[in-house]
Amino acid sequence: MKLHEYQSKQIFSKYGIKIPKGRVASTASEAKQIAEELGGNVVIKSQVLVGGRGKAGGIKVAKNPDEAEQFATQILGMEIKGLPVRKVLVDEAASIAQEIYLGITNDRAAKKPVIMASSAGGVEIEEVAKTNPEKIYKLHVNPLVGIKDYQARDIAGGINLPREHWNAFSEILKGLWRVYNDYDAELAEINPLVITSDNHLVALDGKMLIDDNSLFRHPELSEMRDTDEDAPSEIEARKFGLTFIKLDGNIGCMVNGAGLAMASMDILKLSGGEPANFLDIGGGASAEKVAAAMRIILSDPNVKAILFNIFGGITRGDEVARGILAAIAEVKPKVPMVVRLVGTNATEGRALLANANMITAETLLEAAQKAVAAAKGELK
Ligand code: GDP
Ligand code: MN
Repeated sequence: MKLHEYQSKQIFSKYGIKIPKGRVASTASEAKQIAEELGGNVVIKSQVLVGGRGKAGGIKVAKNPDEAEQFATQILGMEIKGLPVRKVLVDEAASIAQEIYLGITNDRAAKKPVIMASSAGGVEIEEVAKTNPEKIYKLHVNPLVGIKDYQARDIAGGINLPREHWNAFSEILKGLWRVYNDYDAELAEINPLVITSDNHLVALDGKMLIDDNSLFRHPELSEMRDTDEDAPSEIEARKFGLTFIKLDGNIGCMVNGAGLAMASMDILKLSGGEPANFLDIGGGASAEKVAAAMRIILSDPNVKAILFNIFGGITRGDEVARGILAAIAEVKPKVPMVVRLVGTNATEGRALLANANMITAETLLEAAQKAVAAAKGELK
């Protein structure tokens, strides 16, 4: 789950990181009023869950409240990379001497969090990462030890930060580390962290990515969720507790267990097919959940066939079969369906499906090959 800039910065602020004064507005007149309160010289910032807002024209510095209103009107009418702008952040404008990049993320290969910092922060950081990767200083963190002062100094020195800012930088880095930890973040990023012309370190932008699997520990964050950028099918799946990720292929997959779902997708690919989704219906899935999963898969017009790969352990074959039948009765799918059902109560399950006009398979490979053929219209 992504947080908006204003949400991330409010969290940063609680952890002692200095942010500009400001508030969000949903209308241009609200933006004007906030600008008046802040003294007129403000920056109007679109709140959408994509990067590169600045380059897309979604960030504008206003000299006075009237201009703030005018920019807010423009920006609130924009779509940025397909997302409507519903809110703007009105922040006191900063006078920038230098823009620094500072982020903490997971380094999967190293199996550790990594701090990344650069003196070349700002809107070109992706370009810097490509063309001058040596300008990005990286340091891995032992999560059990956290960040020590000497490491903060290493980084400050590594990005040639003027000495007078080292203490403040160290506090910001440690604050960001605690944010990253406390919120189960996959990314906590400040870009830019600026040195202002009056020599303060201020977080002008903020970005946080939260591990969805930790949201049960952060109910207050779930409430902040902005679903604008999520595929509608993924939102629907979340309601039913299904793990669903939409993909671009044409074979819908309904599988129980994440490992089996990945194996099924691999074998589909190996057999020349393209999965339309990743879907783990989970252990002990009820008929109701299976029906919901089927509706979700079929809501994708690209889907030309469905592969059911069910390994009954906790999940009972007959229960899944009832779910499939209920779903068929409800959604009346027009695409061919291939089913492989083994394990607990598989015989009962297969018997239930015998009259359902489905293509059956014994092994996973056979099922995948039949699904690929079915999606091409070669098998009905
Ligand atoms: P992003 O483009 O989505 O990453 O949005 P940012 O919040 O990082 O803003 C993009 C750029 O706008 C920053 O790198 C700054 O150069 C500029 N900017 C943002 N806020 C201010 C401000 O208060 N004053 C000035 N002068 N520039 C700003
Ligand atoms: Mn930014």
